[in-house]
Amino acid sequence: MQPNSSKPFSYEAFPASGVVAYYSMEIAICPGMPTYSGGLGMLAGDTLRSAADLGVPLVAFTLLHRKGYFEQHIDPAGIQTEDVQPWNPADFCVEEAARVTVSIEGRTVQLRAWRYDLAGRYGHIVPVYLLDTDLDANSGWDRGLTDHLYGGDSNYRLQQEVVLGMGGVRMVHALGYRVNVYHMNEGHAALLTLALLERQLGGGPLGAATEADIEQVRQKCVFTTHTPVPAGHDRFSNEQAIRILGGDRTARLEQQCCFRDGMLNMTLLALRFSRYANGVALQHGKVSRDMFPEFAIDSITNGVHAPTWIAEPFQQLFDERIPSWRRDTLCLRNAIDLPEDTVLAAHARAKEELLAAVAARTGHLLNPSVLTLGFARRAATYKRATLMFSDPQRLQAIAAEAGGLQILYAGKAHPQDDPGKALIHQVVEDAARLSNDLLRIVFIENYDWELGALLTSGVDVWINTPRRPYEASGTSGMKAALNGVPSLSVLDGWWIEGCIEGVTGWAIEDGVNDAEEASSLYDKLAGDVVALFRHDPRRWARLMRATIAFNGSFFNTNRMVRQYNSNAYYPVTLTERESVREETFAD
Ligand SMILES: *Cc1c(COP(=O)(O)O)cnc(C)c1O
Repeated sequence: MQPNSSKPFSYEAFPASGVVAYYSMEIAICPGMPTYSGGLGMLAGDTLRSAADLGVPLVAFTLLHRKGYFEQHIDPAGIQTEDVQPWNPADFCVEEAARVTVSIEGRTVQLRAWRYDLAGRYGHIVPVYLLDTDLDANSGWDRGLTDHLYGGDSNYRLQQEVVLGMGGVRMVHALGYRVNVYHMNEGHAALLTLALLERQLGGGPLGAATEADIEQVRQKCVFTTHTPVPAGHDRFSNEQAIRILGGDRTARLEQQCCFRDGMLNMTLLALRFSRYANGVALQHGKVSRDMFPEFAIDSITNGVHAPTWIAEPFQQLFDERIPSWRRDTLCLRNAIDLPEDTVLAAHARAKEELLAAVAARTGHLLNPSVLTLGFARRAATYKRATLMFSDPQRLQAIAAEAGGLQILYAGKAHPQDDPGKALIHQVVEDAARLSNDLLRIVFIENYDWELGALLTSGVDVWINTPRRPYEASGTSGMKAALNGVPSLSVLDGWWIEGCIEGVTGWAIEDGVNDAEEASSLYDKLAGDVVALFRHDPRRWARLMRATIAFNGSFFNTNRMVRQYNSNAYYPVTLTERESVREETFAD
């Protein structure tokens, strides 16, 4: 059945006229706006795109990031340099007339919002409001507060979080919305709870807040944590909190037990003031409960927005064979019946497009019939980008057996992350040293939305080698799955749920050290991947379609947003919600 002109069921009918207000430090809104750095922003953007497609009444808030994140350049020696990415908001957004203020270090800082209308497939709009402090009323320092995503020091960060959380709450009301639910996407937005408590008190002193006042706030808030290790949680010193937020607010947060190890902990703050909290994959929910055992933390596994990440050749194939996939991504389950040759042909076209882009960007001419592996992610040391190079002789032997092997790399290191930069340097050096006629390793600079889409759809196998359990979820392997590209990955994050050995990809087995895990990576490459890819294209095609059917149909944001709706935003009844919790919590 093809979608017709009637609008799909809309949640607008559900809670009269109210909206969900979604807050995220970064949102990948459209490829031309550099308002994101990586996975967190992509997830936020894909969430909003699915909310728009599904007709969910939701509005979103983020910062404008006038100077963007950064454009990456890698010189021939593998040294990363960064350029700012200035952009013009008026080219994409409409300025709203509303103005609100927040207090930062005792100064009054004024903000405005720029609106971007994200339109869904059936015309439903999810407005995204980008908060901006670049106004004449503000001092020079304050005008720059919404310039750099993850730039500056921790003082800058906390001040940005005041703008996002406290400014974001004032702005949603100044714009006239009635809010049913406030959703904090990661702890950066946690200060919105403080603004809600102040609203609840109608301007009265924070010290007078009762447990009932706090419960009122809690009933409206839900929180998603994305960080699997204590060091990853946003924290600020007591001195910083007093200076930037003020003594009264800091005292109140201390009284509410939002400090851990003497630091204001934004995850703890968000948890204390939320009626519902979740991690982003089953294992991540469990890891989060171990870190914060006093809280009930559910899990809703991440996804990606299918039409955003499926390459054109597969969109055409699905439109022909499974047209209902656009209305309901679960229908991708029927990819299990796609004829093998149609799957191979669609992939060959996606691969051609990738290799053409690689040639244009790097001058390297790669061979479309050679097995091609992809590895692209933020250059954090736990992701172990060089694990595949740890035994060069073994890698060369595999390349020989495969009749050639091509490995594509991409990834940015945060400008202040020296170990991450050293890792990129190492990858570029190894690539030059190990490349020969049979083994071609190419690093492509400036990993972003566009390059991510090309890589995840055009390579033959997606590689992921994080050290467990550092990967909360990961989403790039989901993009690959929607394009029929299997993963060869450590069993971490989403892959614990997505891996059916030999059917949707392969697991790199846990070892006692890096060398053992590298050895498992080589074993699987040689024994499973190469054998099948080189000698049995029919079975390879079946693997590809099973990857779409099992993983593409599930690891998408349409399924995820429906789960947020029914488990987090609008649980049917409290009792029912709690009984659901008990099931998901069985570890
Ligand atoms: C999807 C995506 C990510 C996140 O992928 P991970 O699997 O979490 O590494 C990061 N950056 C870009 C550009 C992406 O498209």
